[in-house]
Amino acid sequence: MSPKSIKKINPNELQLVWSDEHESVYPISYLRDLCPCAGCAGETVLFHQYVPPPPDKLTPGRYELKNIVPVGSYAIQIIWGDRHNTGIYTWEHLLNICPCEYHQRNFKP
Ligand SMILES: [Zn+2]
Ligand SMILES: [Zn+2]
Repeated sequence: MSPKSIKKINPNELQLVWSDEHESVYPISYLRDLCPCAGCAGETVLFHQYVPPPPDKLTPGRYELKNIVPVGSYAIQIIWGDRHNTGIYTWEHLLNICPCEYHQRNFKP
């Protein structure tokens, strides 16, 4: 599944409408807190797990969505007001974190 539209519906929310008409509405601060990049989410390299330090939520611009760049046909890259731009949000990740009741019930890790 892929989104057929992605738009900021107000200063604090991003809406994705999927090819099956499902609508996901993400609070923008929620998307930033769930940034999937290694610096934010951590990663496992050669069996050593890297756990990032807790984010400084007071960083200016942290929750300001500056731009959205398509990545191939499988993801978007989000550029934030504090210049953080390494988060590649795949459709799969976005559906996993969709805040609607259905996805929270079915896709919680
Ligand atoms: Zn990140
Ligand atoms: Zn959903």
